[in-house]
Amino acid sequence: MKRFGLIGHPLGHTLSPWIHRQLFSLMDCQASYDALDIPPEQLPSRRQELLSLDGFNVTIPHKQAIIPYLKGLNRRASLYGAVNTVCDGVGYNTDCLGFLQALAGGGISLSGKVAVLGAGGASRVFAMEAALAGCMVTIASRASSVEKARALALEVQEKVPGSQVSACDLDELKGPFDVLINGTPVGMFPHGDACPVNDTVIHGCGAVFDAIYNPTDTLLLRKAKAAGVKAVGGMPMLVWQAAKAQEIWLGTSFDSKDVDALVPQATEELMRTFGRHE
Ligand code: NAP
Repeated sequence: MKRFGLIGHPLGHTLSPWIHRQLFSLMDCQASYDALDIPPEQLPSRRQELLSLDGFNVTIPHKQAIIPYLKGLNRRASLYGAVNTVCDGVGYNTDCLGFLQALAGGGISLSGKVAVLGAGGASRVFAMEAALAGCMVTIASRASSVEKARALALEVQEKVPGSQVSACDLDELKGPFDVLINGTPVGMFPHGDACPVNDTVIHGCGAVFDAIYNPTDTLLLRKAKAAGVKAVGGMPMLVWQAAKAQEIWLGTSFDSKDVDALVPQATEELMRTFGRHE
C-alpha cells in the first residue's frame, strides 16, 4: 500500500483526499491519502516523516517553505518558486498544468490581452503561464498591494524574456481583454455576493476563468455567462492538478475523459461537505 498526503495549515475541510482517492481507484492503485495539518514551526521536525511518504502535495503556507528540504525542483516549480507536489524528494508544480488543462477543456485559448486579478500564489502561476504563452499581461491588485503586483510584473518580465507585463490598481482596470483570470478570493464562500470587477470589464472580455471552486458558479462567472462570455470555474483546475500529481507519483497517464468526469462528481462532493451555496 503506497502512502501519500497533503500538508498545509490550517487545512480545515479539504476536497483533496476525496479527489485523490477517486483518482487512485481509476488507476487501480492501493494507496492512502491523508491530510496532514502541519503548522509552519513543525515543518523542520517533520521533514523525515514527509520524505518517507511515496509522495505528497503541498498547500498554503508551505509552498515556498518546503523548498530548502528538497533535493531539487523541476522547471515549472523553479520558475514559480513554489511547489505543490513532491516525488522522490523533488518539487513539482502541477497547479499550472491544472490551470492549462481547465482552460483547454473549457475551450479558452490563452492568447492576446490577458488580465490577471491578484498577485498572490495562484496569480503568480497565471501571470507566468500567460507570459510564457506570449500574451500581453496586466496584473491588477487592490490599491493596498499594487506594489506587490508591480514586483510580480517585473519578476515575470525577468523570467520570461521579451514578455509584456504591466500592473495596475484593480479599480482602474480597463478592457477589453481576451481572457480575464481571477486569482483573488473575491466571490469565494461565504462571500458569494462579491465580484472582483465591474460589469463593463466583464462585458469587454472574450473569456473568464475564475480560480475559485467554492462556489463553483461565482458571481463573476454568472455575470460573464449572462453577457455571453465564455466562463470556466476553478473545479477543473483543482481536479486536474491532482491528476497531474498522481501521474508524476505513479508514472502513468489518465484518460482525460475519466478526469473530466470527476469534475461534476467533485462539485457534488463539495456540496455534500459544505452545503449548497449557489
Ligand atoms: P493568496 O496567495 O492569498 O493570494 C490572494 C490574492 O488576492 C492576493 O493578491 C490578495 O491581495 C488578493 N486579495 C485578497 N482579498 C482581496 C480583496 N478583497 N480584493 C482584492 N484582492 C484581494 O491566495 P491564492 O493561493 O493565490 O488563492 C487565490 C484564490 O485562488 C483562492 O480563491 C483560492 O481558492 C483559488 N485557488 C484555486 C485553485 C484551484 O485549483 N482551483 C488553486 C489555487 C488557488 P493582498 O496581497 O492585498 O491580500
